[in-house]
Amino acid sequence: MQKGTIGVTTDNIFPVIKKFLYSDHDIFLRELVSNAVDATQKLKTLSSIDEFKGELGEINVSVTIDTDKKTLTVSDRGIGMTSEEIDKYINQIAFSSAEEFLDKYKNDANAIIGHFGLGFYSAFMVAKKVEIRTKSYKDGANAVMWSCDGSPEYEMSEIEKSDRGTEIILYIDDENQEFLEKSRIEGLLKKYCSFLPVPIVFGKEQEWKDGKYIDSEKDNIINDITPAWTRKPTDLTDDDYKKFYHQLYPGMDEPLFWIHLNVDYPFKLTGILYFQKVTNNIDISRNKIQLYCNQVFVTDSVEGIVPDFLMLLQGVIDSPDIPLNVSRSYLQSDSNVKKISTYITKKVADRLQEIFNKERKQFEEKWDQIKLFIEYGMISDEKFNEKAMKFALVKDTENRYYTLDEYRTLIESNQTDKDGNVTYIYSTDKTAQYSYIEAAEAKGYNVILFDGQFDVHFIGMLEQKIEKSRFVRVDSNVADKLVEKNNINEVALTETQKQMTEGVFKSQIPQIEKTNFIVMFEAIGETSQPIIITQNEFMRRMKDMSALQPGMMNFYGEMPDSYCLIINTENPVSKKVVEQIENGCTNEVMPIIENITRLNSEIESLKVSHQGKKDDEIPVSEKEDIKNKENEISDLRKKENDILVKYGSENNLVKQLIDLALLSNNMLKGEALSKFIKRSVDLL
Ligand code: ADP
Repeated sequence: MQKGTIGVTTDNIFPVIKKFLYSDHDIFLRELVSNAVDATQKLKTLSSIDEFKGELGEINVSVTIDTDKKTLTVSDRGIGMTSEEIDKYINQIAFSSAEEFLDKYKNDANAIIGHFGLGFYSAFMVAKKVEIRTKSYKDGANAVMWSCDGSPEYEMSEIEKSDRGTEIILYIDDENQEFLEKSRIEGLLKKYCSFLPVPIVFGKEQEWKDGKYIDSEKDNIINDITPAWTRKPTDLTDDDYKKFYHQLYPGMDEPLFWIHLNVDYPFKLTGILYFQKVTNNIDISRNKIQLYCNQVFVTDSVEGIVPDFLMLLQGVIDSPDIPLNVSRSYLQSDSNVKKISTYITKKVADRLQEIFNKERKQFEEKWDQIKLFIEYGMISDEKFNEKAMKFALVKDTENRYYTLDEYRTLIESNQTDKDGNVTYIYSTDKTAQYSYIEAAEAKGYNVILFDGQFDVHFIGMLEQKIEKSRFVRVDSNVADKLVEKNNINEVALTETQKQMTEGVFKSQIPQIEKTNFIVMFEAIGETSQPIIITQNEFMRRMKDMSALQPGMMNFYGEMPDSYCLIINTENPVSKKVVEQIENGCTNEVMPIIENITRLNSEIESLKVSHQGKKDDEIPVSEKEDIKNKENEISDLRKKENDILVKYGSENNLVKQLIDLALLSNNMLKGEALSKFIKRSVDLL
C-alpha cells in the first residue's frame, strides 16, 4: 500500500473547497458524471482507431445511491486509470498561487473548478471520504483503489476488480444527506445531464404493479444522447424541432420558427435557437437559452455571451470554445466570446431575411409576435440593425405591411414637406386616435400603427437612420399641418376677435390634473372639425420615453402634458361661436382694449423720451407715472378677463364644443363628463 500527501501547496485545500464552493454544491455531480463520460468517449475513440481491441460492450455510466452505507457512486466502463495515472492526474494537483486565486474568485465556484481542474475534488464539497476503484483498459493493468478522507493524505492499494473502468464512491457527509435522496439526484441529473452523449443510468424504470410502483427490468436512462442540435439539419423534420423544443421547455406554446446553428471555423459551435411569441411583458427569467459544453449543461445565464436582445430567444448553444469555467467579467472581454456573439447575431439576421424572402406572407403573419424582439435588436445592436433595416416591417392602420423602403416609396410623393423631409405619420392607438386617423386619411396620408412597447425608441432610431425623415403622431397637429406644406390658409380673424375668443375658450376648459392647454387658431376648411385637440410631438415623446425608463429623464416625466386646443376658423359652427362672442363681449370689452392700447402707447412714448438718459436724470414723477399706468393695465386685463369668463360661463355652445373635442380625445372624465351629459340633455 502506498501512502502520500496530495501535491497542493496549501494544507487546507479541502476546507477551502468546502467553504468557498458552498453555494454551488450540486455541481459535484456534473463534474463526476462528465469525467465518466469523458473516460467512456476516450475509450470509444481508441476503439475506433484500433488502439483498443477489446469488446466495448455496454458503455453506460451509472449513478447509484446506497442509503444504508450512505454512499453515492458514479461508475463507468471507460478507459480507467493505472496507479501512475492516479498519481499524475489525481495526486499532483497543479496548484500555483492557489490562495491568491481562490481569494479572487471565491464567489465563483465554476471559475475555481475550471481553472484548476478541480472537477474531481469537488466531491469533497459533499463527502467526508472519497474512494476511487479503477482498472485501466490497458493490457495487464492492475486494478487500484485510492481513498482520501478529506485531509491532504491519501491511501492507495491494489485491489481485485473484474471489469475495466472507474467507480467513484462518495461517503456523503452529515450536512449533505440530501444527496442520498433519489428525487434530489434525479433532479440534478435531469438538470446537468439530460443531453450527455453516453447513456446515464439511474436505477430502474418504474412500473405500476399491485397498487404501487416497483422497479421494472429496464434501466432508467436519464438522457437523450443525440439531442436535435447534434444532428444534421437535413435529418430533422419540423416535428423533430418542435419536439425538442418541448423537451427543453415543457408546457410552452409552439415556437414560431427556429435557427439551427452549426460552425466549425473559427470556433466550434452548434445549437438551435427558437423564436417564441414575444409578448409585452417579457419574462426572460424563465425558459432561457441554455449553454452547453460538449452536451454538458453549464448555465442558463448567458449574459455577455449572447447579445442582450438575443436573450429573448430560447434554445441551446453548445460550444467547447466558450471558456465556460471563468468569471463573467473575463467572459465578456474574451475575443472568442465576442466572435461567437457576432456570429449568432449575423445568423439570426440572415435567417430572418431568408424567411422574409421565401415566405413573406408567413413572415407578415408572425411579425406582430416577433416585432418586439426585432425592434429591440435594431435599437441595441448596430450590426443587427444594418441587416434588419431590409426586412423590418411597418404596419399601417389598415393592417398592410411594408418594408421601410416600400413604405417610403408609398408616401414620398404626398407626404414630403416644404423642406424635403418625408413625413411619417403614426398612431399609437387606432381606437383612441380614430378621428385623427380619419382626418389624415382624408388628406390622402397613410398612417402607420406603432402601438408596441419599444415603438417610442424605435421611432427615434428610424428618424436617425432614415435620411430626411420626420415622424409625427397623427394627433400632434391638425391634419393640414401634419406635413408642413406652403399652402396653409390665413386665419381671417382680427386680433381683437382672437383675443376675446381665446379668453372665453380658455376660461371654459375643465381643469385636468397635470395638463395644460394653449388655445390656437387655424383655417383648415369648413368640413374639418370645429375644435381639435393636439399634443406636441416633442414633449409627448420625451414623456413617453421617461415613462419607459423610470428614474431617467425625470425632468420630462414631471412636466404637465401640454395640449393645443385648436379652433378651426373656417368651420361654420366655430364661425358662429366667434360671432357670438364678438356680439356678446365687444360692448364691454372694446373700451377696455382701447384703454389698454392707449396706456401702452403712453408708456411707450415715455420710454422713448427716456432713451439715452441715466436713471437719475429721469424725473421721479415720470417713473411713477409708468408704474401707475402698468398697474392700471393689469387691472384692466383682469377686468377684461372677468368679462370673458362670465360670458363663457353663460355660453353653452363654447362649453359643448370644448367638451366634444375632449370627448373625442378620451379626455372628458368625472364631473366634467357628467356636466356635459346634463347639458346635452338640456339642449335636447
Ligand atoms: P479535469 O476533468 O478537468 O481534467 P478532474 O480533476 O475532474 O479534472 O480530473 C483529473 C483527471 O483525472 C482527468 O483529466 C482524467 O484524466 C482523470 N479522471 C477523472 N475521472 C476519471 C474517470 N472516471 N475515468 C478515467 N479517468 C478519470
